[in-house]
Amino acid sequence: MSSTLDRSAVQASLNVWQMAQRQLDDIAKIIGLDSSIHGYLREPKRVLQVSVPVRMDSGSHRVFEGYRVQHNMARGPGKGGIRFHPDVTLDEVKALAMWMSWKCALVNIPFGGAKGGVICDPKNMSMQELENLTRRFTSEISIIIGPEKDIPAPDVYTTPQIMAWIMDTYSMQKGYSIPGVVTGKPIAIGGSAGRDKATARGCLYVVDEAMKELKLSSGGARVAIQGFGNAGMHAADLMAAAGYSIVAVSDSRGGVANANGLDVAKVIAFKQETGSVAGFSGGEKLSNKELLEYDCDVLVPAALEKVISADNAPRIKAKIVAEAANGPTLPEADDILYERGIMVLPDILANAGGVTVSYFEWVQDLQELFWEEQTVNERLRRIMERAFRDTLGQANRLKVNMRQGAYAVAVGRVAEATSLRGVYP
Ligand code: GLU
Repeated sequence: MSSTLDRSAVQASLNVWQMAQRQLDDIAKIIGLDSSIHGYLREPKRVLQVSVPVRMDSGSHRVFEGYRVQHNMARGPGKGGIRFHPDVTLDEVKALAMWMSWKCALVNIPFGGAKGGVICDPKNMSMQELENLTRRFTSEISIIIGPEKDIPAPDVYTTPQIMAWIMDTYSMQKGYSIPGVVTGKPIAIGGSAGRDKATARGCLYVVDEAMKELKLSSGGARVAIQGFGNAGMHAADLMAAAGYSIVAVSDSRGGVANANGLDVAKVIAFKQETGSVAGFSGGEKLSNKELLEYDCDVLVPAALEKVISADNAPRIKAKIVAEAANGPTLPEADDILYERGIMVLPDILANAGGVTVSYFEWVQDLQELFWEEQTVNERLRRIMERAFRDTLGQANRLKVNMRQGAYAVAVGRVAEATSLRGVYP
């Protein structure tokens, strides 16, 4: 008992980068990873910090801080989104870049891991200020991005319009259109059919697989979703269409619950009108904290990191936790959920649909040959189902939880590529 307490005291103070390194250290022990490769994979390959001067609507200039981190590129060019959020830190971007390496390897697409972020509050910026910020940030990181080097994409609070500005700025600098430099673009300029809903669709596919594995029926299964951005909102929509009952949703301003199921189309319309799901009249009010412990079968954290800790893990009622967000569960909570028999579909599996369709978008841009949405969704389903089976297979073989199963597959693949390529010179 006292050792559990000691451990959680240490873990509560883990920042997100230490948490990412700790997850790698745990799997390194389990799979007997060579210590020099382990040391290599523990640090990012490259970190770029930039100052981004932006002309504000007032006429004055403000300088924002931004980052692009490339973790490992042994399996292909760097891939990963750009986050615009007031709480961005370099350590967070390093963790997110490392997680992208594992995610791309788990779904077996030929990319390494990268991530970007700018410390800013897009909710309090005008469209013109956001465009100025995006264009100058793109220009500053253009020395390390490119369709053959590192390909950004959307993440928290970045949109297809922002991807369009990235594509345009990079293309202007080179003198011709280069759609393959960024994914998650609007379809009119080389985006892929199905990319907007891909993170949520991938999440639905793996939840379906988990339900089958646990011999649960998805018809009427109750789902609670924390976060109502690109991942959470589309997850609510697609899961409701697939027969699940969405019983609670929330966003940064609060949430709403209805044990008999929310009318998802109405919640989405309300969010689009008011900017939040909080205050929706078709259910009762609940906080983000309460949402995580709400009575449901499937819990989908789809917002930010570190929301499931040793503190609330004992009270989570779901049978499946599907991590549409990156890093929502602390290592301490992983152990508790596993002991309680709750199946956690880890972020690098549950939200990998986004980067998978980003891969399809990049391939379509390079080939200048575009696919029907049905083709995109079918190929996505095949990849997600295989990644689920690979994860479950390793988890069973090693007698570990699903995160460790996924890490065993993913870290093993990155380690193999890294060691085959060797150390230069
Ligand atoms: N930001 C998303 C993620 O965390 C998508 C990355 C991408 O499409 O490159 O996976």
